[in-house]
Amino acid sequence: MANVGIHPHVDGGLRKGGAAFTGGTLVCECTTNPVKVKIKGNIAHNHACGCTKCWKPMGANFSIVAVAPTEAVEVVENGDKLAVVDENALIQRHACKECGVHMYGPVERDHPFKGLSFIHPERFEEEGWAEPGFAAFVSSIIEAGYDPSKMDAIRERLAELDLAPYDCLSPGLMDYIATWTAKKSGVLAA
Ligand SMILES: [Zn+2]
Ligand SMILES: [Zn+2]
Repeated sequence: MANVGIHPHVDGGLRKGGAAFTGGTLVCECTTNPVKVKIKGNIAHNHACGCTKCWKPMGANFSIVAVAPTEAVEVVENGDKLAVVDENALIQRHACKECGVHMYGPVERDHPFKGLSFIHPERFEEEGWAEPGFAAFVSSIIEAGYDPSKMDAIRERLAELDLAPYDCLSPGLMDYIATWTAKKSGVLAA
């Protein structure tokens, strides 16, 4: 199964990180004047994502994406190279105009994820960040051109890497979103 590519960071086996990670600096792929973004504190909900919107390194079928509180995100170098990929999207993905890496994506709209920013921890200069814990939007890799007849092998490989495959978000995050929605509508007490 090791020949089924998920993402270069996990293809050789999951590298465990953990609670001790206190943050670090994300760097884009530019060899000169890279964009640097500082993240204070650990990341949460790290996962592999198969959607077509997340940034992925060359050849990867999945992205590795996590969240941090937007107040813990600070652009420290070459922020003038950043531009929002799609102003209408829920996640305001700020990408480097030169190399294309998405550096951070805050959610500013009224939404359960408001106040969080999506980041790609593989761009940390430092090691030790919490490893991905599941795979989201797995079926969506077909939208990017993946052979639908090979999806069983993808799901088997994800399970082998302890990345439980889901076709939306994980049950925990789906419950979180539904709870927020139910409280907002008044069905559940806030
Ligand atoms: Zn760049
Ligand atoms: Zn995604």
